[in-house]
Amino acid sequence: MKKLGMFFILIIFIIIPAFAQTTEISAELEAQLTAIEIFVSENRGLPILEPVPVQFITRQQARDIAIESALNDFLVVDLNQQGLLYRALGFVSDANIFAEAYVASLGETVVGFYLPELGGLNMILPEGESLGDNLSFYQQSIYAHEFLHALQDQHFEIPIEKERYTTDQFLALRALIEGDANLVQRNYVLYGIENNLGDINSLQSSQTVTDALPIMKNEENLVYIGGLQFVMTIHATGGWDAVNAMYANLPQSSEQILQPAKYIAGDMPIPVELADISGVLGDDWQLGVTTTIGQFYLSEYLSPYTASSLAYQATNGWGGDTMSIYQHPNTNELAWALGITWDAPIEKEQREFSDLYTQIFEMGFDIVSETPLCGVLDGMTTCFANTDTTTFITSAPTTDLAQALLTHVTAE
Ligand SMILES: [Zn+2]
Repeated sequence: MKKLGMFFILIIFIIIPAFAQTTEISAELEAQLTAIEIFVSENRGLPILEPVPVQFITRQQARDIAIESALNDFLVVDLNQQGLLYRALGFVSDANIFAEAYVASLGETVVGFYLPELGGLNMILPEGESLGDNLSFYQQSIYAHEFLHALQDQHFEIPIEKERYTTDQFLALRALIEGDANLVQRNYVLYGIENNLGDINSLQSSQTVTDALPIMKNEENLVYIGGLQFVMTIHATGGWDAVNAMYANLPQSSEQILQPAKYIAGDMPIPVELADISGVLGDDWQLGVTTTIGQFYLSEYLSPYTASSLAYQATNGWGGDTMSIYQHPNTNELAWALGITWDAPIEKEQREFSDLYTQIFEMGFDIVSETPLCGVLDGMTTCFANTDTTTFITSAPTTDLAQALLTHVTAE
């Protein structure tokens, strides 16, 4: 990574001062960009407080920035933690596969991004094309989306340090930010069609096919499409003021994004206490991450084994969770424990999940114990049991260890 770090610094220093020379923006293009900026500012009701630096870069340059910063259009994700979570929940067999797929898909699909750290808006030139005097209609709509990110940065105090958020909170924050930008992008498209601002076919043809992992596609769906629906629902209750107010009262869970009524009702995630399992694992194991995975990832965890509508339904009573993932530095193996609590009525919501999860065990795992229920899949034993308030799941490379973990976390 060190080499890439140097490369990245060079790129930043080369691109930023040089953009005016290498990709000079013509007066005609400048006028087009200004018109989009004015539309966005007026449509969204947020004045432009200061000019936003803009640069047009090549896809290769975007790929290089993606490799270094794991940028996500606006926010930067923690690839290490995300990789551990993906492995633990069975989305990937190897964290490297995830990191590579992540960067590859960013390099391939991102069409523009706004990085608060750099304070600038980056637009990616279509492959093999140079900058002309006009953006295609599709590029205009992307510009509207990215420019809204710049206005979000100017008007709202969005803490961007990812340490402040659980995995689930971070997903909810991304859904708010991208849903807001998507709503303005959508408004621009409608306005553009009405005013003949470009060829609407460019909206279709510009969409790239990607090799992204299924989980990443589903995540993008939640953030961009689910986020749009979420923001539209809130917008319908009180216009942009209601949307603005969310930046001071951030959505706290993917459950709230999936079911906006829960955000409106102030249905907050319930903290779940999970006993420290480091003593059971022993000194060799290292804590990778303790976080909240939320309804979205829990549902995705069940999805490979059942219809996604059933997985969604079974997790609908999600109330809160805590997950700890440990890694063995020599063998690279994982061991983890997850405690999930449920909304009232707890018994009903817990039973719905347990019934489906038991079926999944019976179909997809080699059962090695009935009480507690433990099954083996891909060299990992997973066990689960319910207390009155909480469903506990543990997983480890051996059955003894998975059972010992379960005994420990379910002990009163
Ligand atoms: Zn965005």
